[in-house]
Amino acid sequence: MSVRLDLKSKLGLDVFKEDSKPHIKIKPGLESDPRLKKAVLVCPAGLYKLNDKGEIALSTDGCLECGTCRLACGPEVLDWNYPSGGAGIQFRFG
Ligand code: SF4
Repeated sequence: MSVRLDLKSKLGLDVFKEDSKPHIKIKPGLESDPRLKKAVLVCPAGLYKLNDKGEIALSTDGCLECGTCRLACGPEVLDWNYPSGGAGIQFRFG
């Protein structure tokens, strides 16, 4: 018998160890840059949110380290790095 899990349930199986500082940052003053709206659409973990002021906010807790936001938005608007050693995601069950 196979069990089907939705995306949220699958992501809930992974383990995240928080880093001492966010490993991805929106460059200062660019929170309203239109290029960031792509990240809201493409981040598979849904970590980019558009707020009432039209600014994009990012929480890296739960980041899959896939790099999709970096490719979509570009290094001009995102300071993207991997977490420091021992921090970040541990994938479980594939
Ligand atoms: S690296 Fe992937 S999971 Fe992490 S914030 Fe970017 S798109 Fe989302």
